[in-house]
Amino acid sequence: MGGLIDYVTALARTENRRAAAAALGRLLGGHGLIVFVRDDEVGVLLPAPGFPQTLRSAREWRDFLRTCVARGEYGVDALAPPEGGIAEPAYGFACGDEAVVVVLGARERAEDVEDMRRLLPLLASTFRGERAAAHSEAQVRVARDAATHSEALAAALERTRGDLQRALTDARQAQGELEAANHMLQAQASELEAQAMELELQTTELQNANVSLEEARAAAEAGNRAKSEFLATMSHELRTPLNAIGGHVQLIQLGIHGPVSVAQRAALLRVERSYRHLLGLINEVLNLARIEAGRLEFVLKEVRVAEMVADLHPMIESQLASKRQRYEVQVSEPDLVVRTDREKVQQILLNLLSNAVKFTGPEGVVSVYCDVDHHAPGWVLITVRDTGIGIPEDKLTSIFEPFVQVDASHSREGQGAGLGLAISRDLARGLGGELTVRSAMVGGSAFTLRLPRT
Ligand code: ADP
Repeated sequence: MGGLIDYVTALARTENRRAAAAALGRLLGGHGLIVFVRDDEVGVLLPAPGFPQTLRSAREWRDFLRTCVARGEYGVDALAPPEGGIAEPAYGFACGDEAVVVVLGARERAEDVEDMRRLLPLLASTFRGERAAAHSEAQVRVARDAATHSEALAAALERTRGDLQRALTDARQAQGELEAANHMLQAQASELEAQAMELELQTTELQNANVSLEEARAAAEAGNRAKSEFLATMSHELRTPLNAIGGHVQLIQLGIHGPVSVAQRAALLRVERSYRHLLGLINEVLNLARIEAGRLEFVLKEVRVAEMVADLHPMIESQLASKRQRYEVQVSEPDLVVRTDREKVQQILLNLLSNAVKFTGPEGVVSVYCDVDHHAPGWVLITVRDTGIGIPEDKLTSIFEPFVQVDASHSREGQGAGLGLAISRDLARGLGGELTVRSAMVGGSAFTLRLPRT
């Protein structure tokens, strides 16, 4: 027993446990030894600390140990050694279910087994204490690691919490801004809606006004046509008795109805002048009325501008001579041709020329210029210019209206009724062209007839 205690004591020390186990194993008839103790945590027998912890053929070992516990001791012919090698005999003896000692290389009990079994509880509690210490050390390590880990986790969480807090503040601010923008948009939307409604209302009003306007225009046009019809008929009817008056005056002047005294002749002359004036007026009214009633026909032909203008000269020659006025004609291209109604163009130009002579003093200059419109080559411009009294700026538009004259004293002298320009403009438009005027009170007037070339 004394020797055995030394062996067990050596085994109880942690250092050189393997060597101590081998020595004790030899003492007990084998060549090595493993002590198994119950592990309180898992409730099974496991090699004590310091012995090989991994067992080959674990199942075989489990069965062997269980039989040892059940019988108190047990021997087998072959059991796989813990760390490899060839299977060999093994003998185990138990101390209750607390601990089992396995002697490797021995099949039968040795003499010292009983003594050894008595010492076994002491050894088992030593080993358990060691394991517990190892366990708690491991637990302390794990706890320390866990603490470190959770500290890091807490710091990370704190950071995340800060980030979240900031994100939340930002989100709240953004939400506030969004709400404000939304309010503004809603206000704008309702304003727009109100504007749209207003616009719709105005559109309806405008449409109604348009309809009324269209009706009024149609009525005015109908009225105007009726007026022109009436004027055309009336002036035609007036001409018949007027011609009879003219004829009778001429007969009396010729002495057909007996001798005519000097006083009577003078009176007859005044009647004749009034008769001519009235006839001229009626003819012009008839002319205008015909144009406005759309009764005038335009006959378009190729017209050589230079020839047509030259033909006008004989018709105004005497008027020019009576005022000793100079007459000039300038045609930029001798072969300039337009497709137009020759008579209507001559009527316009004659009217412009006789006005030019009429409103220009003795020894003044009346001129005609013909040229292609250099800004629009599809057009021809014929301008009648004079060095006369000119036309005030504020009358440049109204002189084209019927019966408008800048100075009405001319008509009292029997020189027109203010219809010439109205007729001329209507004719120009009927030819697809236009009649315009420029004037300087000092430098005379310039009327331009613009005609399409084809
Ligand atoms: P009328 O010559 O019979 O009065 P017009 O319609 O031809 O009628 O002309 C209207 C008015 O325009 C004239 O009364 C005159 O006041 C003015 N007018 C026309 N041509 C000229 C011109 N060349 N120079 C100055 N005034 C003019």
